[in-house]
Amino acid sequence: MHEMAITIALVDVLNEEIERAGGGRLVDVVLTVGGLGALEPGALSACFETVVEGTALEGARLSVRRLPIRIHCRGCRADGICDEHFRCLDCGGTDLVVLGSEPMRVESMTMTK
Ligand SMILES: [Zn+2]
Repeated sequence: MHEMAITIALVDVLNEEIERAGGGRLVDVVLTVGGLGALEPGALSACFETVVEGTALEGARLSVRRLPIRIHCRGCRADGICDEHFRCLDCGGTDLVVLGSEPMRVESMTMTK
């Protein structure tokens, strides 16, 4: 399961960050994912809850934000972003070239001591 593997990798990163910060309890984490990934934010949150159960991260809240995909539209020749159905926001065209999509990134972490 794609989301599960990513969640486990994410938890590793979070644990490292907490250790680097000198310990503490994670309350809240915001994750951004590139819109192109086949990731379901809901599935990711569900996996996170399962993975952190019984660990120091239990009770932390994961929020997932999807970043827009930058595209070039061959229909109207505009550079822009596309909607979630992979259509040009300007003309609704579907003949798009993907210019870039950001990888997954931890946007922010909130911790208490
Ligand atoms: Zn267009």
